[in-house]
Amino acid sequence: MGARRIRVRGVVQGVGFRPFVYRLAHANALRGWVLNQENGVEIQVEGSDADLDAFIRSLSAEHPAAAQISSLEVGQTAARGFAEFLIRESQRGGPPSARISPDLPLCDDCLAELFDAADPRYQYPYINCTNCGPRFSVAEGLPYDRSRTTMRYWPMDPLCARQYEDPLDRRFHAQPVACPACGPHYLLESADGTTHGDRASIERAAKLLRLGHIVAIKGIGGYHLSCDARNADSVRMLRERKFRKEKPFALMVKSIETARTIVDLSCEAAALLSSPPRPIVLAPAIAEFSGVAPENHELGVLLPYSPLHYLLFASGAPDLLVMTSANRSSEPIAYRDDDARKRLSGIADAYLIGERPVARRVEDSVARAGVFGPTILRRSRGYAPGAVITLPVSKPILAVGADLKNTITLVIGGQAFVSQHIGDLDHYEALAAFRETIQDFIEMYRVEWDDLLVVHDRHPEYVSASHALELPSSARIAVQHHRAHVSSVLAERQVWERRAVGISFDGTGYGDDGTIWGGEFFTGSLVSGWTRVFHLRNASLPGGDAAARFPVQCAAGFLSQVEGVPDLLGPPFHFPRRYLLSLSLLRKQLRTFQSSSAGRLFDTAAALLGFTREISFEGQAAIWLEHLAREAPPAQPYPFPIADNTLDFRPLLTALIQDRLQGRPICEIARAFHAGIAHGVLQAAQRICEANSIDLVVLSGGVFQNELLLTEIESRRKRSIEIWTNLAVPPNDGGISLGQAALAALSAQ
Ligand code: ZN
Ligand code: FE
Repeated sequence: MGARRIRVRGVVQGVGFRPFVYRLAHANALRGWVLNQENGVEIQVEGSDADLDAFIRSLSAEHPAAAQISSLEVGQTAARGFAEFLIRESQRGGPPSARISPDLPLCDDCLAELFDAADPRYQYPYINCTNCGPRFSVAEGLPYDRSRTTMRYWPMDPLCARQYEDPLDRRFHAQPVACPACGPHYLLESADGTTHGDRASIERAAKLLRLGHIVAIKGIGGYHLSCDARNADSVRMLRERKFRKEKPFALMVKSIETARTIVDLSCEAAALLSSPPRPIVLAPAIAEFSGVAPENHELGVLLPYSPLHYLLFASGAPDLLVMTSANRSSEPIAYRDDDARKRLSGIADAYLIGERPVARRVEDSVARAGVFGPTILRRSRGYAPGAVITLPVSKPILAVGADLKNTITLVIGGQAFVSQHIGDLDHYEALAAFRETIQDFIEMYRVEWDDLLVVHDRHPEYVSASHALELPSSARIAVQHHRAHVSSVLAERQVWERRAVGISFDGTGYGDDGTIWGGEFFTGSLVSGWTRVFHLRNASLPGGDAAARFPVQCAAGFLSQVEGVPDLLGPPFHFPRRYLLSLSLLRKQLRTFQSSSAGRLFDTAAALLGFTREISFEGQAAIWLEHLAREAPPAQPYPFPIADNTLDFRPLLTALIQDRLQGRPICEIARAFHAGIAHGVLQAAQRICEANSIDLVVLSGGVFQNELLLTEIESRRKRSIEIWTNLAVPPNDGGISLGQAALAALSAQ
C-alpha cells in the first residue's frame, strides 16, 4: 500500500485528460483524486505499489491524442485512506501556466453520430466531445471550465448533463458539450428573410452556394466567405466585392479524394492536411480554377474540420468551396455577428450564423510539406495558443513581434505561448486586434505588468515598437529584426548554446546602421547573440516603402550599380514610366535608402522578366517568379560572387539581362536566377562556417518561404553542413515574436 502525488504539465486541460486519469485509476483499483490546476493537472493516488507503477506508466503512454505532456513529476506522499477515486473541482490560485488546448477537428466518433439518424445529436452542427471541438476559440479564461467559455449561456439539459457528469462517457467534462435540445443553433439571413433551424438553414446555404451566391459562414474562429470554386463568375464577383485582386483563395474540399483531383499531394502533404490543426496546405496545382490562385503554381486546400462543414457538404454544397477569411482586403477576420453583418454587407449575399459566440478570432493556419520538413506559413487555428517551447527563464516576457504578419509571444514560467496570426498592423482593425490580443494573453495568464520584460523590434517607426513603449512595464529591450528571424530557428529546437551561421533573406527590416537590411549573414547563438559578418551588397532603393510595392522601382535601384543597362522602356522589358521617375529620385537622392534586402533583389528579377505592375499582396512578385521558374528544367546558376564580405548581385543581374536580350525563355532565366541565389548563399555560408569552425546553418526570413529556392539549396549543399529551417513558427514575420522572446531571454545581445 502506497500513495503518490503526481503533477502533470503540458496540454492537459480541455482534452479529456481528467476522465482519462479517472478511468485509468479505476482500471488499476486506485483511490484518490484528480484536479485541474492553473499550472496543469494534479493527481493523488493510493493503492498497491504494482498498481501505482502501472498507473504511472500508462499515464504517459496512453494519454488522449490531443494531450501533450511536457513534464510529469511523481512524489511519494502519505496515504490518506480515500474510499474512492474522484474528479475534484478546479482550483484557482497563483498565476496560471496550464496550457489551453488549440481547437480540435471533429473526431471520428462524433462524425459517425452526426450522420446517425438514431443519435440525439443527428445533424447537430455543434456536436463535440472531449476528443474534439472548439477550445481556444471558446475559452474566456483559465482554468478551462464551462463557466469560463462562450458556452456558459446554454445550461445543459438532462442528456448533456448526464454525459458531462459521467466519468465513463466520451463527453465527461467536455466543456462545450451541447445537443439540439439545449444548445445553440444556426440560422440563415438573406435578403429573403431569415431561415431558422439547423437543418433548414444549412440546406439553404448549400443551395445558395450551388446557385453561385457568396455566403458568409460562421465557423470556429470567425467568419469565412464562401462560394463555389468551380464557378468562375462567383469567384470573380467575390474578388471584386472583397477588393482582393489576385491574392490566392483557399479551397475547402469535400474529402481528401477531392483534394487529390486538384493538387499533387505527397504523403507528407496528405499527413499535414489531415493533422489535427487541419491547416490550409499549399501543394502543387494539377487543376486550374479561374480566379482562385492566379499565376501561382500552388493551390491552398483544407479539409472540413467543424461539424458544420461536414453538414454543408452533405447538404449538397459544391464539393470545392472557396473558404477565405471574411474581411475586406487584408483586415482581420470578422468574428462577431454584428461586426460581420456590418463589414460584409455588400460582399455576402447571405449569412449562415451560429449562435455560439467566438471568444477570439482564430484564422485558418497555412502550411506546406517542404523539402526541409513541414513549414508553417501562418500559425493560427489548431496550433495557437500551444506553447512552442520552454525557455530556461523564470521572468515573464512579452515579445510584440513585427508590424507585418504580426504575432505576439508571452513567456510565462518559461513556456513560450505564441499567439494566433494577427495581421498587418498598418490596418486600424489589425492594430486593434494586436492590442486586444496582448490584453487577452496578459489577462488569461494574469501577468503583472511590473514584472514583465517587453521585447520589440528596433525599427523606430514600427507601430508594434511604439505600442511597446506605451505599455506599463518597467523593462524593455529592442531586438534587431533579422537577429530575431534566425533566433526563431534555434529557439524552436531549444538549442541555446550551439553556434550557427544565421542567414536571413527577407523583405525589409531595420538594421543596426539605420539602413534597410534583408540579406544578412550572422554568426552566433542564442546565448552569445549574433554578429553580422556578411550581407548582400547594398543597393539604393528610391521611394522608400513604395519600392516594396513596385518591382520596377526596386529594379531602378539595383540596376543603378550595373554597367551597360539597356533601355528598359523598350522591348523586351517594357518598363512603365514609373521607372523613369524612380531614376530621377535616385539621381537627386530623394527619398532614397540604402538596402541589402534580398526580397527586393527578387522583385528586381521579376520586373526584368515581365512583372512590371504594382503588387497587390506582399511577396507577389517573388511568388510569380518562382511560379515561372518551375516551368523550366534545372539550369546553370548565374554568377553571384563573394566580394569584400558581400554577395555581389551585379554579375547576376548582368547575366540575366544578357539572356533576356538574347531571347532566352523567361522561365529558364528565372530558374537560373534561383539557382544563382542558392549557389551564392551556400558559397557564403560555407566560407563563414569554415572560418569560424561552425557546422550548422539556420535559414529564416520571408524569402525562405520560396520552396524552389530551398530545393535548390538542399540539392547543392555540402553534407558536412547541417541546414535548419523553421518548423514550428513561420519563416516570415509571424515567427519574429518567438525569436525576440528567445534572444531577449537568453542573451545580453
Ligand atoms: Zn468528438
Ligand atoms: Fe522579416
